[in-house]
Amino acid sequence: MSSTTPRVRTRFAPSPTGFMHLGNIRSALYPWAYARHHGGDFILRIEDTDTERSTEESVQVILQAMEWLGLGYDEGPYYQMQRMPRYREVLEQLRQAGMVYPCYMSTTELDALRERQLAAKQKPRYDGTWRPEPGKVLPPVPAGVQPVWRFRTPTTGTVSWHDYVKGRVEIRNDELDDLVVARPDGTPTYNFCVVVDDIDMGITDVIRGDDHVNNTPRQLHIFNALGATPPRYAHLPTVLNEQGEKLSKRHGAKSVLQYRDEGFLPDAVVNYLARLGWSHGDAEIFSRAQFLEWFDLDHLGSSPAQFDEAKLRWLNAHYIKHTDGTVLADLVRPLLWAQGVVAESPDLSAVCELLRDRAQTVNELADQAHLFYRPTVPDAEQLAHHLSDAGRAALAELRDAMRNLAPWSREAIAATIKEVLKRHGLKMPQLAMPLRLIVTGREQTPAVDAVLALFGQDVVLARLDAYLGAA
Ligand code: GLU
Repeated sequence: MSSTTPRVRTRFAPSPTGFMHLGNIRSALYPWAYARHHGGDFILRIEDTDTERSTEESVQVILQAMEWLGLGYDEGPYYQMQRMPRYREVLEQLRQAGMVYPCYMSTTELDALRERQLAAKQKPRYDGTWRPEPGKVLPPVPAGVQPVWRFRTPTTGTVSWHDYVKGRVEIRNDELDDLVVARPDGTPTYNFCVVVDDIDMGITDVIRGDDHVNNTPRQLHIFNALGATPPRYAHLPTVLNEQGEKLSKRHGAKSVLQYRDEGFLPDAVVNYLARLGWSHGDAEIFSRAQFLEWFDLDHLGSSPAQFDEAKLRWLNAHYIKHTDGTVLADLVRPLLWAQGVVAESPDLSAVCELLRDRAQTVNELADQAHLFYRPTVPDAEQLAHHLSDAGRAALAELRDAMRNLAPWSREAIAATIKEVLKRHGLKMPQLAMPLRLIVTGREQTPAVDAVLALFGQDVVLARLDAYLGAA
């Protein structure tokens, strides 16, 4: 045995048969992180052998989701449909070794067998009619029928593995029947292709959803038959939705790309998904680099994780708050553009920096930025409600003081407002509310001094003049 541990190689092997929700992409995140943690390779393999259900559109969704989340792969995408000759070749090896045999049982016969077993309260399973055994006489081969090929599964003993999540799993071989590995037209079946791929791609660790746990004993037998060392396995518990149902489109789960379109940041989603089934002490918020440094298979959760959109939003808000204004501006600009808003002045980075504390998504940030690029005319009634005569006099004085203000900074504006309030014996809202309304048309904005500073002296004075009449 070699003393060097083989280079870690993991894979994400999605079937492009439709929808991809956050639980699905978590099955990409963990193998990706595991490979990165160990300086190994992460491989993308598209399992498209279900030709009825696989679509190019759903391949694109997978590729886009991975790109958006920054889950780069070192090899692939491999497509199983392009590897058919290889599967046939390996099948032929098994045939020559007597590990697979033709089975001519028709669907009608299989159905009848199933009914008999169910009636006798037995688990429905193939009964080995066509399995060759020494001294056994097989039924006559029916004319003109193409057989399926079945794998000769050991009938005694057990098959077992150490699962990172489930611990030791052991299955009695007499629980398993002889799996069909090739259809009558010779096309190989799912479990067989997975094993050939995992061998050919040198996969050392399979990290996948626990909906595959029943396939594992069957796959292990195929590994053995091919004389290959099986990978290590981690079967991730399902993700449940807020109602405790399995996360699925049918139960209202959103697609990964919808989160992108709603303005979630990839780092926030990665952080959220990292914690959805794995933990590092109490750490809730951590960078991608930290995650990759910490990620292991020993701290995977063994009970189903529950998706919580409110927590994801909270985390996204945190990431937005800590993202540079220039980075946010690059995300917000195209959104504003699409809404017909050209964000030229004030500077969008500064606007994003001011607004980022109050937005849970980039889309919310863009909506709030309208404040600076789409001022609305103040509502006369609202303004009358907020503006007393005393307030009006103070406002006129403030306008005059601001006319000569240099530099035009948030601090200087704040100090000027304070002085005027003091002189007139007014409280902050008595001046700040009408000021907000006149300059932005809105009652709610971030701190008024910051907002005025961003709008710039000319714009603020022009709007006050328009309302108060030029002095
Ligand atoms: N193609 C399978 C799926 O999408 C995953 C198979 C595997 O990871 O072994 O569920």
